[in-house]
Amino acid sequence: MIDLKQYQSFVTAVTSDPSSNIDSFNDRVTALSTQINVPLLLTSAIGMAAEIGEFCEIPKKMLFQGKPLTDDTLFHMKRELGDVIWYWMNACTALNLNPDDVIQENITKLESRYPGGTFNVYASEHRVATDI
Ligand SMILES: [Mg+2]
Repeated sequence: MIDLKQYQSFVTAVTSDPSSNIDSFNDRVTALSTQINVPLLLTSAIGMAAEIGEFCEIPKKMLFQGKPLTDDTLFHMKRELGDVIWYWMNACTALNLNPDDVIQENITKLESRYPGGTFNVYASEHRVATDI
């Protein structure tokens, strides 16, 4: 049987200082802020996760709970995708990345992964170490 108090102690022991100590967190924020916009990065990271969750809720309900695919459903997904991109763009800004370069890098990565230009399971499952 799992002892949740023991597991809680384990989780605490394997959690980094910046994750659990405000002074350590503030030190990391200060150090990283010389290179990137940390508040904007946090906003975008948390926001993307939240908005992706909002988007995923819709196909989840359509596929598993009988929600019909209607114009309203499509409109709702359209709006959630816009919310995701809004946060994605803020992440690019926070990291001083050109959004065009981010997309080009994604294309380059996928063209390398799938040399024939089409998906295949073998290439998907057998990636080189640099293919993240
Ligand atoms: Mg939303």
